[in-house]
Amino acid sequence: MSYCVNCGVELGASEKHCPLCGVEVINPAVRFDAGAEKPFPMDIEKVRHKLVRIAAARILGVLLAIPFISILLVDLVQDGALTWSLIPASAIALAFMLAVFPCLFSKPRVWFFILMGTLEIALFLFVLLMILGGSWYYLFALPITFLTGAALTGGCLIITARKVWLPLKVIIVFLILMVYVIVLQMLIEIYLRGCIKLDWSLYAGVSCGLLSLAALIVGRLVQRNENFRKQMFF
Ligand SMILES: [Zn+2]
Repeated sequence: MSYCVNCGVELGASEKHCPLCGVEVINPAVRFDAGAEKPFPMDIEKVRHKLVRIAAARILGVLLAIPFISILLVDLVQDGALTWSLIPASAIALAFMLAVFPCLFSKPRVWFFILMGTLEIALFLFVLLMILGGSWYYLFALPITFLTGAALTGGCLIITARKVWLPLKVIIVFLILMVYVIVLQMLIEIYLRGCIKLDWSLYAGVSCGLLSLAALIVGRLVQRNENFRKQMFF
């Protein structure tokens, strides 16, 4: 067993330098062995992050459990059955899923959390449907939830894609926005009036289309300028 001559930390045979202060390890009695077991965690930051995430998940769980149980108990004592409390309780359950689920993952894949969030919101709305009844869920709320989830997931995937040309990202994001607003008004009109009459979404959609075109032109000009610079060697 070696100890750092500078800071005194315990060192394994796998260390050439002290992991704490960086001083070179020279111990003729212990030969360097790259495969030897390390006496400390490989990635301290990783372990620290995991502990913080678990602590955050627990704190959030406790904070949301208090109003959840209180609301159900109050309703049970007042009415003798669970009635109105099911709506705020399911909203708290949704908040729990939306907040705690991302804490359990070490790599923050935003598109995945958006996708899971969409499914959780669809489930929450389904619970509301079971309590309130009506035709709003399948004809209105569910299509809009999935449309919004798909637009956000697509936008997030394209923004975080590494090997995609930046102007192309901007073009696709505006095109997604254009399709989103038009389909959104279509869904609203079908539910409220039973027919499709587009107005505000067309103005917004055309603006998004023009912005997408502007991004394409600017991108092309920048690219042409770059190519010219390369050809002229400056
Ligand atoms: Zn040291």
